[in-house]
Amino acid sequence: MITGSSGLLGSEILLLSGGKRLFRENGKVEISEEGGTLIHCAARVGGVKANTEFVADFYDENVRLNMDIMEKCRLKRIKLVSILSTCVYPDAPYVSYPLTEEQLHMGPPHSSNFGYAYAKRMLDVQSRAYRQQHGCNFITVIPNNLYGINDNYDLELGHVVPALIRKFHEAKMRRDKEVIVWGSGRPVREFTFARDAAKIILWLVDHYDGPEPVNVGNTHQVSIFELASLISEIFEFEGKITFDASRPEGQYQKPSSNSKLRNLGWHDEYTPLRQGLTETILHFQKVYPLVRGVTI
Ligand code: GDP
Repeated sequence: MITGSSGLLGSEILLLSGGKRLFRENGKVEISEEGGTLIHCAARVGGVKANTEFVADFYDENVRLNMDIMEKCRLKRIKLVSILSTCVYPDAPYVSYPLTEEQLHMGPPHSSNFGYAYAKRMLDVQSRAYRQQHGCNFITVIPNNLYGINDNYDLELGHVVPALIRKFHEAKMRRDKEVIVWGSGRPVREFTFARDAAKIILWLVDHYDGPEPVNVGNTHQVSIFELASLISEIFEFEGKITFDASRPEGQYQKPSSNSKLRNLGWHDEYTPLRQGLTETILHFQKVYPLVRGVTI
């Protein structure tokens, strides 16, 4: 079973697993099965701007949704896999890099997304508590910045990869001479192709049963400047890239360690960024403007 199966990660998990889609009605998810596994991808998510502007909504909606799912999985003896994100880790100077799982609660998250971060951290707290008191097989996984086919291309609410893909695509169509990228270009991120994360999460369903979260992202680091240059190159965009320091800059970095995942036995390579971006861009060009955040 999968919640959030129309989203970036959930849709890849659905494709790979052929699982059953669960939907929310009036804020609640109806679960008829007993036993089995539920991969809980549904969440209120967004990029750096949306997280700051709607900080209370991000906290509220996620906590309510997660409470509902956890209690139902407890009652129906379902294995629950919950998804966090590296942006919910404490920010500098409270952590040492790369981020390891035991540092999750060692300080406050970055101010730009504290509502989302605390709501997601509660997935870890509640999963551990239910495991300890009720013997629930609840696990949590922590991807980093995901990108891929079924992303949200809304320019104000979405993440950096879909926003830049759309900006370069539309700039080429309009024959614009420049593309505006938010911030200084200096922040560094790790980008994971959503299909890779989906494969790892499905593998963990069969290979992991423990209280600590597991980082699952590609640990290759790229600056926003390098990302924008790479996307520009794939599009063969000939104009210039301008950085707008008046737009949100976000956290400087959040590099993660995936050694726990490696020690559990996952040894596959991640899709290289250029390859994942090229596939995503080719798909985007084919379906544009019928993409989430543009006309649907
Ligand atoms: P974050 O990883 O949670 O901060 O989320 P984002 O994917 O929204 O932003 C990552 C980085 O990309 C930040 O440093 C932004 O300043 C930068 N960025 C550059 N251009 C854009 C853009 O058009 N949209 C977004 N969302 N971020 C951008």
